[in-house]
Amino acid sequence: MENCLFCSIINGSIPSAKVYEDEKTFAFRDIHPMAKTHVLVVPKTHVSSAADAADVPDDVLAACLRTCAKVAETEGISSSGFRIVSNSGPDACQSVPHLHFHVLGGQKLTESMA
Ligand code: AMP
Repeated sequence: MENCLFCSIINGSIPSAKVYEDEKTFAFRDIHPMAKTHVLVVPKTHVSSAADAADVPDDVLAACLRTCAKVAETEGISSSGFRIVSNSGPDACQSVPHLHFHVLGGQKLTESMA
């Protein structure tokens, strides 16, 4: 989608620190990491947020979760533990309107989720 930051990262017109890519998903390091490991996983097709999940094919949604798990494995945080967060809409402070999953770990995370 034109004028979408993450679509531009996926198509390479804006650089990123890529961690993983497959047919349906793209993963790259968050530019402002909030944990020792902080990777963003996005579907390659443009979807605004998790609120639009009903419009996303099941295989794409499943691929996103599998990529999160794969990233956790390759980052070495799979067994120690990690958190997956997807902010949707203003109350959740979503700042980039392209569905994305934060994969956070590499350290003890706080119990607070809000
Ligand atoms: P959210 O606030 O949940 O929408 O998450 C958007 C995330 O994108 C934030 O954690 C930002 O730090 C991150 N971000 C913004 N621009 C870039 C960029 N060019 N490369 C990597 N991460 C970015």
